[in-house]
Amino acid sequence: MISEKKYTVVDDLGFYGDFGGAFVPELLRDNLEELSLNYNLIKEDEAFQNEFISLLKHYVGRPSPLYLSQKLTNEYQCPIFLKREDLNHTGSHKINNAIGQILLAKKMGKTEIIAETGAGQHGVATATVCALMDMKCIVFMGEKDIERQAPNVQRMKYLGAEVVPATSGSKTLKDATNDAIRYWINHTNAYYLIGSVVGPHPYPAMVALFQSVISKEIKTQLKEQTGSENPTKIVACVGGGSNAAGAFYEYYDNEEVELIAVEAGGMGVDSGHTAATSAVGNPGVLHGSLTLLMQDEYGQVIEPYSISAGLDYPGIGPLHAHTIQVGRTKSISVTDDEALKAAKKLAVYEGIIPALESAHAIAALDKIDFSSKDVVVINLSGRGDKDMETYLNFDFDSAQS
Ligand SMILES: *Cc1c(COP(=O)(O)O)cnc(C)c1O
Repeated sequence: MISEKKYTVVDDLGFYGDFGGAFVPELLRDNLEELSLNYNLIKEDEAFQNEFISLLKHYVGRPSPLYLSQKLTNEYQCPIFLKREDLNHTGSHKINNAIGQILLAKKMGKTEIIAETGAGQHGVATATVCALMDMKCIVFMGEKDIERQAPNVQRMKYLGAEVVPATSGSKTLKDATNDAIRYWINHTNAYYLIGSVVGPHPYPAMVALFQSVISKEIKTQLKEQTGSENPTKIVACVGGGSNAAGAFYEYYDNEEVELIAVEAGGMGVDSGHTAATSAVGNPGVLHGSLTLLMQDEYGQVIEPYSISAGLDYPGIGPLHAHTIQVGRTKSISVTDDEALKAAKKLAVYEGIIPALESAHAIAALDKIDFSSKDVVVINLSGRGDKDMETYLNFDFDSAQS
């Protein structure tokens, strides 16, 4: 059974400490109440959990391996394990959450799924589970992102999804989010499937719980391979924060395990071209929750920048905002160039081409002090096929060191 831990439990209003809640238009209150009610039911429902776990096993291919990288181990002089979420069906951790939520949508009697996507990775995961479960699928996507992410748009359409361009504002993710929310208000048969630990309560808690399968498996696999279920450090990249929340989940309440969240520094935290929210952001409301976000003095969202589309998000989920604020989670940032070098390193070291997002977590190893007593797990959130063009165009010689 999956279950909540102290740090991961929200109060009645959906707050982790100072962060979270549900800041939504009046018209969405009923939708969220209905969702919370049903979410509370499935948390305790063994039949639901069995179906979830069965699909993760037989459809997604879980458990994903926990692999000891001998070469990273040699370089950093302590055991370094990779949690291979890149080997999941569709190539990342996002499918874990998509499966959980579509099962919930079915249980609630919904007939169509709506989602918004920036890079398209969550859109593809959603279109995939909609095909599997015979659900109508509508994906809202900024017009600009549709142009930038053509291969993922093709995948979504091939899987049977309708991709609706958001044409207002900056024509990117936040405009797609607005369109999805507007659609949700007007369609009671629609289920809104959010792809990270963001959004109004109960989404952050729910997505974290569905992703917690990652740390559940790490415990069992690490025990098998080292004799102890506890690493000393877990490292994961953070966009909204779902792969990190999943990798940290079972360890939040064990303060001996250090949790390290890696944000996208972009061209540098002080360059004005960054997505390192915890470094440059402050509290405000984004996507229906009170959290840390990048904003100007008028509270307008600042467009984030990262070479990695999955980390190019102006906020972090409230669970991370809270655990970073109270010092439970440490955050560090990694630049575009550092991530690109780390991707190449993992490719030649291990024959594993990581997603650009995950490459940020690998690059972070250079910024952490290790002792020989350390045992490290890196969550390898996804595979790098989608990033090959970026990798091939990267000029190592002119990169900033
Ligand atoms: C979407 C994505 C991320 C970032 O999302 P989180 O919710 O922070 O996990 C990271 N890695 C990959 C491979 C992704 O597709």
